[in-house]
Amino acid sequence: MHSVIVHYQEIALKGRNRPWFIDRLASSLRDATADLDVTHVRPLMGRIEVGLGPAADWSAVRERLGRVFGVANFARSRSTGREVDEIAGAILRHLAEPDAVAAEGVTSFRVRATRADKTYPLTSPQIEREVGGRIKAARGWRVDLASPDLPITIEVLPDRVFYALGKEPGRGGLPTGTSGAVLCLLSGGIDSPVAAYRLMKRGCRVRFVHFHAYPILSRASLDKTQEIADLLTRHQLRSRLYSVRFGEIQQTIVLSAPPPLRVVLYRRMMMRIAERLAGVCGAKALVTGEAVGQVASQTIENLAVINDVVSLPVLRPLIGSDKEEITQEARRLGTYPISIIPDQDCCTLFVPRRPATRARPEDVKRAERNLPVAELVDRAVAGVERQDFLFPVPAADVGSTSGGGPDAAAAAAEPR
Ligand code: ATP
Ligand code: MG
Repeated sequence: MHSVIVHYQEIALKGRNRPWFIDRLASSLRDATADLDVTHVRPLMGRIEVGLGPAADWSAVRERLGRVFGVANFARSRSTGREVDEIAGAILRHLAEPDAVAAEGVTSFRVRATRADKTYPLTSPQIEREVGGRIKAARGWRVDLASPDLPITIEVLPDRVFYALGKEPGRGGLPTGTSGAVLCLLSGGIDSPVAAYRLMKRGCRVRFVHFHAYPILSRASLDKTQEIADLLTRHQLRSRLYSVRFGEIQQTIVLSAPPPLRVVLYRRMMMRIAERLAGVCGAKALVTGEAVGQVASQTIENLAVINDVVSLPVLRPLIGSDKEEITQEARRLGTYPISIIPDQDCCTLFVPRRPATRARPEDVKRAERNLPVAELVDRAVAGVERQDFLFPVPAADVGSTSGGGPDAAAAAAEPR
C-alpha cells in the first residue's frame, strides 16, 4: 500500500497543546484532499500517514499537501518489513521500476534513517550504513550526504518500516485555526491579500471584509476581492467575505469634513465597522496591509489616529516591508494579476489633492463631531453581505453564494 508520510516541525515545540495541534493538522490534510482518493489520515508516532487509494493522482495529492500549513515536508512512501535485507530489497526492487527516479538519472544518493521504535536492534547510523552499502553495491552510485541526486529516507516503526525516494518541501507555518480567527480588511489592492496570507500561515483562520462604493462606482473591486478570497481559500479551505456598502458613508464625510482629513476619516469608519463584524464572526484581531510611509494615510501619526477608534489589536504584518518585496510575494501567491486589474477603489472616491500626512487627533475628533458616526456604523453593519468560500469546491455547491443581512451573518454556522 502506498502512503504519504507527512512531517511537521514547529508544532513539535508546542508542549501540552501538541496533540491538539496534530489533530488540527490531520484534519487540514483530510479536508485538503477530500475529493481525492485518500483512504485515511492517521497520526503515527511523530508523523502523519496519508493513505493513498488506487485512484489517487500523485501530482494532485502533491499540490494539495504542498499548500497545507504546518507541514515541514512530505514524501510518497511505501512500507516494508523491518529486517535490513527486507528494507534494502524493497528499495532496490522499487528503484528498478520504470519512472521510480528522475529520467535525468541518478549518480549520487544518501540514506537517512530515523527510529520511532527505539528498541530496534540497530541504531539509525547503522541502518543507514547497512542499507546504503547494499544500494551502493547494487547501483554503483556515489554517497553524497550534502546534496544527493536522490535522498532516501527510512522510518522505523514498531510494526513496519516506511521508506521514500525523494522528499517534497512543505509550506511551513502552523495548522489553520490553531491561532484563532482574525478579520482582514481586504481592499483588492496588492498588499492586503499578502497580509492575509501571512496570518493564515501563522495558523489564523482569516475572515475578510471589503468596503466598496457600488453602486456609486463599478462592481470591479467587489469582483476582485471575491476572486482573491476564492484564491486564498485554497490555503485555508474555508473562508468568509463580508462586503460593506461604503459609498454613502464617504459622501457624508465629504460633505462635512475638511478635505485633507477625508482619508483618515474613511479609515476610522472602516475600522469601527470591521471591529463590529469581528464581534459577529469571532475574530480576535483586525489585519491590514499597511506599511509605514507607503502612502499618506500610512504615516506613524495617521496609523495611530486610525487605531484610536478600536480596542481590538490591529495586526499589520507588512508594516516594515518595501512595496517591491510585497509585490514579489503577491506574484508567488498568485494574487498579483487579480490585484492589478484596474478598478475604482472606494478610497479613490473623493480623495483630496493633499491628504494630511500628520492628522492631529483633536482635528479628527472635531471633524467627526459633525458626523452621525454610530448611526453610519449601525447602518453599514445592518446592510452587510456575506459570502462563503470552500476548497475543494463540493460538486453540488459550485457557484453558490450566500448573501444576507446581519441576521443571516450572525445566525449562520461559522466555518471552522
Ligand atoms: P492595498 O494594496 O492592500 O490596497 P494600499 O497600499 O493600496 O494597500 P491603502 O489603499 O491605503 O493602501 O489601504 C491600506 C489598507 O487598508 C489596505 O491594505 C487594507 O487592509 C485596508 N483597506 C483599504 N481600502 C480598503 C477597502 N476598500 N476595503 C477593505 N480594506 C481596505
Ligand atoms: Mg489600496
